[in-house]
Amino acid sequence: MKIRHPKGLPVLFFTEMWERFSFYGMRAILVLYLTKETIGENPGMGWSNSDALVLYGWYTMLVYVMAIPGGIIADKFLGQKKTVLIGGILIAAGQLTLAVTSEVFFYSGLMLIIFGVGLLKPNISTMVGGLYKEGDPRRDSGFTIFYIGINIGAAVAPLIVGYVGEVYGWHIGFSLAGFGMIFGQLVYLWGQKHLTEVGNYTPSPKIEGTKNNKPLTSIEKDRIIVLLISFLIVIIFWGAYEQAGGLMNLYTKEKINRMIFGWEIPASTFQSVPAIFVILFGTAVAAFWEKRNRKGKESSSIFKMAIGTIIMGTGFLMMTGAAIEAQTSEKALLIWLILSYLLQVIGELSISPVALSFITKLAPVKYASIMMGVYFAATGLGNKLAGLVGEFAQNAGELEVFAGIFVFCVFFGLLLLVFFKKLKKLTHGAENINSEEPVELT
Ligand code: GLN
Repeated sequence: MKIRHPKGLPVLFFTEMWERFSFYGMRAILVLYLTKETIGENPGMGWSNSDALVLYGWYTMLVYVMAIPGGIIADKFLGQKKTVLIGGILIAAGQLTLAVTSEVFFYSGLMLIIFGVGLLKPNISTMVGGLYKEGDPRRDSGFTIFYIGINIGAAVAPLIVGYVGEVYGWHIGFSLAGFGMIFGQLVYLWGQKHLTEVGNYTPSPKIEGTKNNKPLTSIEKDRIIVLLISFLIVIIFWGAYEQAGGLMNLYTKEKINRMIFGWEIPASTFQSVPAIFVILFGTAVAAFWEKRNRKGKESSSIFKMAIGTIIMGTGFLMMTGAAIEAQTSEKALLIWLILSYLLQVIGELSISPVALSFITKLAPVKYASIMMGVYFAATGLGNKLAGLVGEFAQNAGELEVFAGIFVFCVFFGLLLLVFFKKLKKLTHGAENINSEEPVELT
């Protein structure tokens, strides 16, 4: 059965694809630029590795934490549609500011990007949810498609911006990221005709001229509780998964045999592997859950998240295998790393697009963007946690840390499986699908 999605979906897909191109492109060269010496060809900022990693940790956390004010601004003042537009303008301005060689411009550029992503990222995700009516069975697959767009940007950007930044100059790399965001904005502006119904500001209903908003019902409160619990899963999930850019990246460089036909693949190239796996397997994983759902088997979001955490955790069993091998023979086989990323991505696909969709089903409409903001802030905390775990591994040893992540994630996932029915009850049927046949919105 071919499912048709609302016409607004491709608009949001391409806007977010370019935004992620800009984000991941700049992220790929940030630390390299900071640590490059200040003299010679293509000079950088001359920072130490640890100083650069500290700034990187704060930056990746703050971009996501700013999603909370970003969500509040959309809910209380502007609506998601306008907030996304302003966010995109700030990001493009920030990237182009980074293109100028000056310390003041550098920090101002970072600040602009942090505010811009905070305004754009949560709200464009909420808008995807807004394309579907309550109970529309296409919502989850809509989010999977959107998630594939994110990862096309994430897969291509490090290769292009990374290459241009390292070979032709950092500042040209930053401007390329800026032009990516400008493309995104052009797609967004062009596609406004397909977004008339979504992301508009809806003032909270006032009671009899007083300023009090209608209080939340007990069902809404229960749903918020289950959302907050799911954010804990999110922190733990990203705390493990985000090792990819840090600890696993360094480990790939030092301990994985990257020789293929006499050529050594640069470690940074493997940063695109998870995103490529998302593109390849995104629809298959979504179809698997969809099929279970249709057969009436358990496929609620918390259940998927629990299974996703376990599968992602098993990815670290592969890294444990690599670390054991590296103890005896100097370097470990590449297949460990590839299998690890594959399992992590299958886990990611059962959590990340699912969580986005789950929030849009459960959050009361007037708090929709704020809850999305809190979700991204949780992923930001996960990023910071990942950095701390990576730092800890420098003393504790990689083998112990990889094995520890595996045991912890599997244990946590199993614990969730024990309690998921209780959590599901708190959603009060928000995940029930009303109609069997897709509604045509075009
Ligand atoms: N990789 C996904 C993205 O860039 C998820 C990131 C996150 O949730 N922190 O959107």
